[in-house]
Amino acid sequence: MMSFDLNFASLGLPETLTRALADAGYENATEVQARAIPPALAGRDLMVASSTGSGKTASFVIPALVRVLAARAAEATQRRDRSVVYGPRVLVLAPTRELALQVAKAATVYGRHVPGLRVATVLGGVPYPLQIKALRGPLDILIATPGRLLDHLQTGKAVLGNVEILVLDEADRMLDMGFIDDIQTIAEHTPKARQTLMYSATFAGHVGRLAQQLLRDAQKVDVSSHTDTHANIEQRLHWADNGTHKNALLDHILTLRDMEQALVFTSTQRDADSLADRLAEMGHSVAALHGAMPQGRRTRTLTALRRGELRVLVATDVAARGIDVRTISHVINYGLPMKPEDYVHRIGRTGRAGKNGLAVTLAERRDGGMIRRIQQFTTQHIPVATIAGLEPKSPEPRLVAARPENRFGGRPGAPGKSFGKPFAGRGGERFKPRGDERFAPRGGEGFAPRDRAPFQHAHRDAAPRTSFDRSAAEPRGNAFAPRKPSAPGAKPGGFKTQRARPGGYSR
Ligand code: AMP
Repeated sequence: MMSFDLNFASLGLPETLTRALADAGYENATEVQARAIPPALAGRDLMVASSTGSGKTASFVIPALVRVLAARAAEATQRRDRSVVYGPRVLVLAPTRELALQVAKAATVYGRHVPGLRVATVLGGVPYPLQIKALRGPLDILIATPGRLLDHLQTGKAVLGNVEILVLDEADRMLDMGFIDDIQTIAEHTPKARQTLMYSATFAGHVGRLAQQLLRDAQKVDVSSHTDTHANIEQRLHWADNGTHKNALLDHILTLRDMEQALVFTSTQRDADSLADRLAEMGHSVAALHGAMPQGRRTRTLTALRRGELRVLVATDVAARGIDVRTISHVINYGLPMKPEDYVHRIGRTGRAGKNGLAVTLAERRDGGMIRRIQQFTTQHIPVATIAGLEPKSPEPRLVAARPENRFGGRPGAPGKSFGKPFAGRGGERFKPRGDERFAPRGGEGFAPRDRAPFQHAHRDAAPRTSFDRSAAEPRGNAFAPRKPSAPGAKPGGFKTQRARPGGYSR
């Protein structure tokens, strides 16, 4: 973690919080914390481009706790009427249960010295009555996934009239999951005078438009990350001739001695289950983790991973979001992500807490288009590697590259790189929410069928709609209607496929 050489006290934080941060072992603020906390404390709306691993959670939890402390001081002078429904003072919306629980944990850790701190979560998969009880009392911080909170709002169980700060964590991800309408409805139930802090890996396209709707005179904080070099994460790309070859590569990597723990990503939940079954048959201590699993099982699986009882976890993007386990030495992309952003999130699951990590991508020819898009997005070439005895027989695909994209919808180096053009979108990328995990028995992720043709990956963005796809129900012509693909102005150049250098795997 890059620290910004700025201690928390110099950010003007109360001792109640600096003490908790010191307890947590934090010496200095990270860049996102140093840049986001001061304007947040000043009451500004924020538009923060950052990703997990940057310390972003603390950058909104700390200002939230400062607000709670201020309220505590005011409360001391006035008595609260217990018969009145108050609801939360701070509302955090997060895309997944795992992420929401992580935010809740951060709030408890950083708020450990705040007297009587009340933090609650409203998550899918948890019994309603408990949540309702938590919702109606005076509450400091509520962390919720949008779908379940909306259910409570519609039945009148949730009251958001006293929200002072609204945080949208990983907004891009929430939109991907089809939560756009839910977020808008939830925001409408909060006071107009609220402060809004919005975090997203990108503010291009539809996320930028949502920001325009929800934020007022927002301070922009860009903590570059998708173009981060991920200096402590080594990336490798192995080309596989076919599925059998890909399995052989995976099996080899999983038996390497330096492989402490691996997080293997698949494109679909079904693949996660079947791959976990196959690896279990081979004798690996392995489990699957995906959105269709009951919450209890997901939590137990993550606990087993943290305790080192599992050596391999096979997961989908949505379920693995925000996993923070230091012992994950390898991230293996067995099935490619749907979007380049997901690649960055995936590889960020290794190399945690300053350790070194290895991110290995196993790609077949047909994955060439996505590899190219990932390289454009990260502006990095993924070095090609081979394993002695398992070299691909087919020639390496040639990737035709276009100019890299930046997260705000423009091109790097173009004037006004930043939040300047709210309606600029990434070339050709459409807003196509994936299934909502509340509705999708097989889960919201990994649903798009894969086309077998090489280099034809645009199809994933234009996958046929399923009954779980909310965009099918979206009225035409609303503010988030799919954009026309932008003009094909992309110039070739930028990435060249280099001949593979052996990747250092030894048998
Ligand atoms: P996040 O980006 O919020 O997911 O945070 C990534 C990791 O960094 C978490 O494990 C935090 O506990 C840790 N972290 C957050 N802020 C700091 C800090 N100022 N110093 C050291 N570690 C931190």
